[in-house]
Amino acid sequence: MDLELLETTLRDAGEPAYRARQVWEWTARGAAGYDVMTNLPRGLRERLALEVPFSTLTVQSEARSRDGTVKTLFHAGDGRAVEAVLMRYRDGRRSVCLSSQSGCPLTCTFCATGTMRFGRNLTTSEVLDQALHFRRLEAIDHVVFMGMGEPMMNLDAVLAACRRLPATGVTHRRTAISTVGWIPGIERLTGAGMPLRLALSLHAADDALRTQLMPVNERYPLADVLAACRAYFEVTRRTVFIEYVMLAGVNDRHEQALALVDVLDPRAFKVNLIPYNPTGAFDGSGRGAIDAFRAVLEEHGLRATVRLTRGADIAAACGQLAAAQPPPVPVPPEAAPVKRERSASTLAT
Ligand code: SF4
Repeated sequence: MDLELLETTLRDAGEPAYRARQVWEWTARGAAGYDVMTNLPRGLRERLALEVPFSTLTVQSEARSRDGTVKTLFHAGDGRAVEAVLMRYRDGRRSVCLSSQSGCPLTCTFCATGTMRFGRNLTTSEVLDQALHFRRLEAIDHVVFMGMGEPMMNLDAVLAACRRLPATGVTHRRTAISTVGWIPGIERLTGAGMPLRLALSLHAADDALRTQLMPVNERYPLADVLAACRAYFEVTRRTVFIEYVMLAGVNDRHEQALALVDVLDPRAFKVNLIPYNPTGAFDGSGRGAIDAFRAVLEEHGLRATVRLTRGADIAAACGQLAAAQPPPVPVPPEAAPVKRERSASTLAT
């Protein structure tokens, strides 16, 4: 729902300020439309239904995995593609992966979104509407900004959305913002005074390989990024999660695990190893290699987990559905996206 349009419409209708709050409270609790908002006059509900679309996004397609994962491709009002994923876990957690941009201006080589043409930053309402779509299906309790785009490049909208998420059932402590190492954003988050989680997509412990996988490393080198994350930890005392996608023969060797140990202070960082499907430009490491890598980290006192894969049968990684869609504006042949595939667990950013 376009919250600015809502407020303007209510003001133009001469309604008191608390009406916007009433509409938001219903929406955040999963209301399916204005008609159920029984503490609003019927005439006002009818006017809102005509003048303020209930969502800024329309569903283009939805895929459902055998494990309960739901992946949705939306279009914004201007036709831009937006993807979000609901992950259901056996312990009852319901985690939603949100996008912050349509496409992404960065070009990480393992990422489907990175092969798409960049569209634009999403608005706060477009970010929230992804979560609200799933909230209408069931209660949600975690959010991760690991969908399309680099959230730190659209931090105003992302933080504004985060301020509203507790009303949907997702506290700040259960909200994680994942970055490839966009230092200005990390620094702003450090000073934001919100107990949000920070996750860093690292994927390599040396500059040469990291630049190859993530060209943004040329702009913000590894040591500077880790120093910014370390500062976040010092100020907030909140562990920084290191995302490390396991690519066979690329970053999964014994000495690369030792290099990771060298650059990460176990008091400040915890590692999340991410299995990767053997498709596209890279092959994913086998389970044995992942377990061996994890064992090296833990032998040296670095906490490490292996991410549960979700939605592998529906190609649920962010960017995959959108990369397969025609773009909303003509693209010259030389700029056409190259489709790469990733597993559900290797979400963007
Ligand atoms: S991993 Fe994140 S930052 Fe990199 S291209 Fe994909 S969406 Fe963009």
